Amino acid sequence: MTPQSIDKIQIEKLRHRVLSWFERNGRDLPWRQNYSPYGVWISEIMLQQTQVKTVIPYFLRWMERFPDPAAVAAAGERDVLLAWEGLGYYTRAKNIHRTAQVLVRDFGGAVPADFNALIALPGIGRYTAGAILSIAFELDFPAVDANAARILRRVFHGSDSSGPVLSETALRKLAVQILPKGRARQFNQALMDVGATICLPESPRCDLCPLAEFCEARKHGIAGLEPGPGRGRPATPIEVSIGVIVRDGRIFIQKRPDGGLMPNLWEFPGGKVREGESPEAAVVREIEEELGIGVRPVEKLARLRHSYTRFRVALHAYLCEIRGPASGKEPVLRAAVECRWVLPAELALYPFPAANRKLIGILLDRFANSA
Ligand code: SF4
Repeated sequence: MTPQSIDKIQIEKLRHRVLSWFERNGRDLPWRQNYSPYGVWISEIMLQQTQVKTVIPYFLRWMERFPDPAAVAAAGERDVLLAWEGLGYYTRAKNIHRTAQVLVRDFGGAVPADFNALIALPGIGRYTAGAILSIAFELDFPAVDANAARILRRVFHGSDSSGPVLSETALRKLAVQILPKGRARQFNQALMDVGATICLPESPRCDLCPLAEFCEARKHGIAGLEPGPGRGRPATPIEVSIGVIVRDGRIFIQKRPDGGLMPNLWEFPGGKVREGESPEAAVVREIEEELGIGVRPVEKLARLRHSYTRFRVALHAYLCEIRGPASGKEPVLRAAVECRWVLPAELALYPFPAANRKLIGILLDRFANSA
């Protein structure tokens, strides 16, 4: 079924159902308080690959710390990454920083209400541009995220699968056709909310759905039965060993390069445990490879677990001392771009990957107790 195959009265009815459902059930979220273009932009970037309940406290802290694009632009990258720490996908924070600088330089510090200007900014694609234009500026643009796409596939195509029949372009066209003029803010958010709370990937709650009457997947009893895009891929387990090298009461940390995974974050040196290798042997080998120094693990500090979207990490952390004649030698950076020897309390001033942050809590307790 396509919108052409439902008559105009049916489309009007669908719009009405969705909008009235939103009036009664729309989620009360902090970025919906005043719909400022800046707040909508920040919330949309934070919400990429991240759940609403995780985003809320980050969003509130961010808006307090950086109330407008000028505040982000004026901040150093380390402060921006610190405010983002734990949200993951750090390229998003770097793009916000770069975009804020462009906004100040070229747009008087404001988010532009123009599709082409928006998609030219770092980290803003068609979906985010559509979300900003519709939600903040009330312009008639669709915003098809993963939730809205799932609803459109199920309602109009009776399937969870993507593919040539309902390509991204086709989904966007569908979204434009059913969009009620002048009500894009409410309609797009309604689809987001229905997708997040009712039309769930695995077990859609069709009995509560404002689109039930129009839905092909429900009619054929197949909603939630087919593997949708990106589902069913288990996270890959990996083991990582890291070393907390202490010298004269200071701890060695290094900064990751600008490109690649978790760019510009700080970390303790270490890396993946190889097959058949013990975690102790891995930390010694990794530090030798990364820093050109020999270390001796003197104590196991922790074994922590942390899940990323694609990986499940078991993290072994060792307190290490530099051994042999290298003890006076400075490490040579082969995997990092900068390093520091910091006091334990100073670790809080540097942005770390979330898995390292758990370890920092343990270190702070330990060094406070031994001080
Ligand atoms: S009726 Fe069911 S499958 Fe169809 S849109 Fe609603 S929740 Fe999703």
